[in-house]
Amino acid sequence: MEYKIDPRSGNKLSVLGLGCMRLPRGVAGIDMQKTEYMILTAFERGINYFDTAYAYNGSEEAIGEIFERNNLRERIYIASKLPHGKCKSIDDVERLFNTTLQRLRTDYLDYYLIHNVVTADQWKRLVDLGIEEWIAQKKESGAIRRIGFSFHGGMAEFRTLMEGYDWDLVQIQYNYVNEHYQAGREGIELAASKGVPVVIMEPLLGGRLVSNLPKDMIRAFERVAPGRSPAAWGLRWLFDQPDVTVVLSGMNSNEMLEENCATASETAPNSMIEEEHAAIREAKDAFEKNFRVPCTGCNYCMPCPQGLSIPSIFQAYNESYSLGWRTGFFNYMLSIGVTSGEPRLASNCIECGACVKKCPQHIDIPARLADARHRLQPAGVKTAIKIAKPFLQ
Ligand code: SF4
Ligand code: SF4
Repeated sequence: MEYKIDPRSGNKLSVLGLGCMRLPRGVAGIDMQKTEYMILTAFERGINYFDTAYAYNGSEEAIGEIFERNNLRERIYIASKLPHGKCKSIDDVERLFNTTLQRLRTDYLDYYLIHNVVTADQWKRLVDLGIEEWIAQKKESGAIRRIGFSFHGGMAEFRTLMEGYDWDLVQIQYNYVNEHYQAGREGIELAASKGVPVVIMEPLLGGRLVSNLPKDMIRAFERVAPGRSPAAWGLRWLFDQPDVTVVLSGMNSNEMLEENCATASETAPNSMIEEEHAAIREAKDAFEKNFRVPCTGCNYCMPCPQGLSIPSIFQAYNESYSLGWRTGFFNYMLSIGVTSGEPRLASNCIECGACVKKCPQHIDIPARLADARHRLQPAGVKTAIKIAKPFLQ
C-alpha cells in the first residue's frame, strides 16, 4: 500500500480508503459477517482511512461495532460527516455529532466533514448558527481532530468556501470522466496550493466506469494494457496524481478489495506513461457518447412518491446507448417492475420535484425521465409490456 502524509496533521494516510456508504447487505440489513471480513481484510492490506456518514443508513453503527470488537480504533483514521440540512441550531449540530460518536463507539473523530455542501451559503448558514466557535471547542477538547467538507457544487462556490475558512481536508467527486466537473482538477490544484489534503469520492462513478462499458472503451484499454480491468484503469489514473491524497472506494466483494489494494500498491504518483493517458482520453470520449445521464446510482433521490426506481431507469436509459436499445429496453422493463401488477413507468413522474433537490449531480430528474420515456416507452408500450412479461417472469 502506498501512503501519503496529510500535511496538516502529519497523519500517514493510505492512498486507498474504504468508503463505507454501501456496505454488503442481506435481507435483514447490513451483513455484519461480510462487512467484518471486508474491514479486517482492508486493514490487513494496509488501508487505514475509513469513511462513513451520519446519513449512511446503519454504516456508523456497523463499523463502530467492528472497530471496537477488533480493537482497531487507535490504529485507523475515521472520517464521518454532519448532515447540515438537519441543523436548525448549534444544539442540533452537537446532538448529531454525539450520535455519530456513540454509533462509532469512540470519543473522537480524526476527520469530521460537513456533508454534501453545494453552495457557500450553506456553510454561511452554519456560521450564523455558531459552527466556527463549536468547531474550535471540539478541536480544543480533541473530540474533532480535523475539519473538512464534502462537496458537490461548482468551482466558483468551491473557491469561495476555500477562501472563507481554514479547512483541514476536502472531499470531492473526481474521476477521469469528471476531470472538469464540479470542483474537478482546478479544485484539487487550489486545495494543494493551500496544503489541504484532498479525498476523492466517486472514483469509478458509482461503478459506471467498471461494468457494462461500451466496446470502444474496452478496446482503448485493451490495446495498451491487455487484461487490466476498467477499475484498475480508473484508480490508476487517480493514484498517478500527486495532489490526490486518498481515493475512497466502496468495495463490497473480496475480489474487488484485493484488486484495488494491488492497484494502490503498484501505482506511484506520476508513473503513467503517455500511451496510458491517451487510452484514458479515448475511453472518456467513448463513455461520454454513451452516458447520457450522469447518474451515479447513489440513491439520494429515493424514495419517489410515485414509486419510480429513478437510478435503475437512468441506468437502463444509459445502457440503451452503451449496450444497444434492446438491452436498455429489457433492463427498463425490469426497473419499472413489469412483472408486478402496476409497473412504475418513467411517465408516472408527476414532476413534484422532491427528488431534484436531493441529487448531488444536479440532474433535472423529471426532464431526464421524460427523455427516458421517449426512448424506452415508444408508442404501444403497453403492448410491449405484454410481450415482454412472459420472458421476464
Ligand atoms: S419529480 Fe418525478 S421522479 Fe422525482 S420524486 Fe417527483 S414523481 Fe418521483
Ligand atoms: S438521480 Fe441523482 S440522486 Fe438519484 S441516484 Fe442518480 S445521482 Fe443519485
